[in-house]
Amino acid sequence: MKEIINVAKSSIPPFEEYCEEIKSIWTNHWLTNMGEKHNALENKLMKYLDTKHISLFTNGHLALEAILKVLDLNGEVITSPYTFASTTHAIVRCGLKPVFCDIEPDYYTIDVNKIEALINKNTCAIMPIHVYGNLADNEALEALAKKYNLKLIYDAAHAFGVFKNGLSVANMGDVSMFSFHATKVFNTIEGGALTYKDEALKQKIDLEKNFGIPGHDKVVYSGGNAKMNEFQAAMGICNLKYVDQNIEARGELYNHYMQRLGGKQGIKLCKPQANVKPNYAYMPVLFESVNRDVVFEALKLNGINARRYFYPLTNTFPCYNFTADNTPIAYNVSKSILTLPLYADLSHEDVDRVCDVIIKEL
Ligand SMILES: *Cc1c(COP(=O)(O)O)cnc(C)c1O
Repeated sequence: MKEIINVAKSSIPPFEEYCEEIKSIWTNHWLTNMGEKHNALENKLMKYLDTKHISLFTNGHLALEAILKVLDLNGEVITSPYTFASTTHAIVRCGLKPVFCDIEPDYYTIDVNKIEALINKNTCAIMPIHVYGNLADNEALEALAKKYNLKLIYDAAHAFGVFKNGLSVANMGDVSMFSFHATKVFNTIEGGALTYKDEALKQKIDLEKNFGIPGHDKVVYSGGNAKMNEFQAAMGICNLKYVDQNIEARGELYNHYMQRLGGKQGIKLCKPQANVKPNYAYMPVLFESVNRDVVFEALKLNGINARRYFYPLTNTFPCYNFTADNTPIAYNVSKSILTLPLYADLSHEDVDRVCDVIIKEL
């Protein structure tokens, strides 16, 4: 039996490097609450992401909820349903109403031409998703947000390290949320961050993630708890050293997939975006003629775990009373797409193994 190939594999540093990094925790007994590792990682990430302001979180989802609370938003948030559960859940859990806009068919990000029709007096924000690390149209979104005085909050969970014309994804819109979950391009085991332009937000966000406590014997705000601990931050410090070489390795595997699958009848791939430095976070393949689920099962029979991602759409979740009627493109894409195995130390032979199975099914 051939070895199982999973869709993702968490990046981890050499064991000794992590041990060395956490040694000082044993000396100073400081485990969490904005310790030395936490602060060091903030500084390193500000440099890497080229952003002036960052706040680290214990996960990306709580970062998303935190910014919606801190901005004190009310009413409707325009977003797309082609995303992970987290985006829609965060909006709903903060007492806001998601209004679903369809996606465009090439990169699966929000269709900026369909947003204006959804804006009304209750709209307070737009929350686009950089799906698979593909950038949403930030210039058009910026113009819309400005014209209608809306907050622009990106779910950049997939887009760590992506730049467009030299502009870091971390500096788009008012705020960007990153996820450092184990399966993402850069991980801190679990973790996340907000990056933002307004310096005044730093204090508010940091109160929100630490019970509203600014210092000893003071509580000034009804905050929650979403602090990143020292072990997470230490993992981030170690993983950050390897992220560039990992992205490069992912790029070579992506190119291999493109060579094998590009131009084949009945499948559609995401082409590189113009002027974008990508992070190769995912390898999505859209099946236009064969049944996606048949390919999924064929891969599985051959020991290959692809992923139906994103499926189902968030506006079809049974916990909600929304509908996918207004998002037909997203609906069709979610029924027809698979993400294929992609991680830094996947072998080129394994890429061939995956492609051989797919090509046989076409
Ligand atoms: C991973 C992810 C999140 C949530 O991040 P966590 O760190 O897992 O909480 C949110 N949105 C998208 C699109 C994601 O992929």
